[in-house]
Amino acid sequence: MATLTERDAGVLGALAEVFPTWQGEGIHVGRRHLFVRLAGCEVGCRFCDTPAALRRPARFSVRAAAGEESHDNPVDAARAAALILDVDRSDGPFHRLAVTGGEPLEQPAFLADLLRRLREGGAPPVLLETAGTEPEALAEVIGSVATVSMDVKLPSVAATTPGWDTHRRFLEIASRVEAYVKIVVNDQVDPRDVERAIEVVRAVDSELPFLVQPETRRDGGLAAKPERLAEVALAAERGGLTDVRIVPQVHKGLGLP
Ligand code: SF4
Repeated sequence: MATLTERDAGVLGALAEVFPTWQGEGIHVGRRHLFVRLAGCEVGCRFCDTPAALRRPARFSVRAAAGEESHDNPVDAARAAALILDVDRSDGPFHRLAVTGGEPLEQPAFLADLLRRLREGGAPPVLLETAGTEPEALAEVIGSVATVSMDVKLPSVAATTPGWDTHRRFLEIASRVEAYVKIVVNDQVDPRDVERAIEVVRAVDSELPFLVQPETRRDGGLAAKPERLAEVALAAERGGLTDVRIVPQVHKGLGLP
């Protein structure tokens, strides 16, 4: 019998993978999340650690306790929601549904439809992991999101085009719900980029969590020395931010996906 979410056709989109694991970044680090990775991203960060999700593959995987299934892209949002809601939760509940990418907001109509169906189907609260570059798309889905994990991209580290005003507009919308900002830094970080990121957060809400994340090299080591991380964190505190934390990517150290 068709589930509630499969009764009407939905918007087509592309997924990369669905899998359960423990959150490795941000303020909910260490909590068990079900990850829903959307496919495709045009942001172009030099340090991207999900290169397989930059393009839209012909098929996507759903991994769970019972094994792994493969499904075709593009996928209807109704079908995608049903697959996600069907993932076995007998090991225990998921604290959040971590909707990530790629850049999930690059498929705004699909994402909005998917999140609506997941909410109606009783899915866990959604944590949206995003590069913070699509404020108009965020405005369309913010009502279905519990937490926004937003990157502020530093051009000297990510090699991306500066987007400070876009990041500020994005954060204004994100801060309607639980939100935090993450910057990825390495030893080449330009202090002026750090200052601009601090300004973005201070302009919206200086009490938002501000996470300094060292870039993880491909060999698993960190591309930022401890003293550089401390410099950045202390600059953020001197800049008026009240909740500054240094948090590396824990999942990589633990060998988790
Ligand atoms: S925004 Fe994320 S997925 Fe896109 S290039 Fe940057 S790190 Fe990779």
